[in-house]
Amino acid sequence: MIPVTMIREYLYCPLKVYLKMHDENIKSYSSITNISHDALIGFEELIKRNLWHLNGEMQVKEILEELLKDIPEFLDNVNLQYQDVELVDNVNNNFDILKEDLKFNSWLIAIKTQKMLKTGLTGAEVVNLLFPPSLLEFKIEDKENGLLGQIDKIEIVDGVYYPIKIKTNLPPLKGVWQSDAIQITAYAYLMEHEFNKEISVGFINYMKVGSRKPVLINTNLREKFSQIFNEIISIVYDDKFPEVVQNVNKCRSCDYCEICQYSME
Ligand code: SF4
Repeated sequence: MIPVTMIREYLYCPLKVYLKMHDENIKSYSSITNISHDALIGFEELIKRNLWHLNGEMQVKEILEELLKDIPEFLDNVNLQYQDVELVDNVNNNFDILKEDLKFNSWLIAIKTQKMLKTGLTGAEVVNLLFPPSLLEFKIEDKENGLLGQIDKIEIVDGVYYPIKIKTNLPPLKGVWQSDAIQITAYAYLMEHEFNKEISVGFINYMKVGSRKPVLINTNLREKFSQIFNEIISIVYDDKFPEVVQNVNKCRSCDYCEICQYSME
């Protein structure tokens, strides 16, 4: 099965896909991704729970204090669970950045919440407005085509399903990164098979700036996804060596720069 996350590797540099499949020295960097996801999902669940008891008399700072109740302890526990992984320094650095981003997002939620509570809505109604019913970390396998995805969140509003991808990096100045758009298209493709519904819009949540950006899943994106998926299949199953376009900036930040013979670093 090819995981949807392989699309990101391919778009960064197709050689990464080849190395990942053919070189046993490649270390797995998934711990960094896993810790972010565990923290993000738990953070949202705690914020939802804490929102229930708020009222329109409260100031933004009081709301923030209530929202953050139990969150530092929860984040410390998540961090502890990853302390025995091999890449502990890297995990800790990324986790500190993530904690700052979550604090920033808590402020945004507190400001929005106060505005809504002041109109007379209850905490429970604010929860429903800010956090519609959703499926979290939803796994879908398309055995026929060999594609596997774990969708961060699927929001369900009036019977319509929306795939959501949560990102910890910055968005581009306009729209979303191409790799995010193609990944959300892959999730839409999986969801269409799983739920037998057409999925025409998805969203990318860029946590660093507290911004949710839409992706219109149009024919162009579907064709691009299909082309990339076929390329990845050729690399993984037919042993095709991809064309390498070297880029010193990419090589510098590449996980595989120490073992890749094409690295420009
Ligand atoms: S080191 Fe450079 S050429 Fe090698 S896989 Fe990474 S980005 Fe590609």
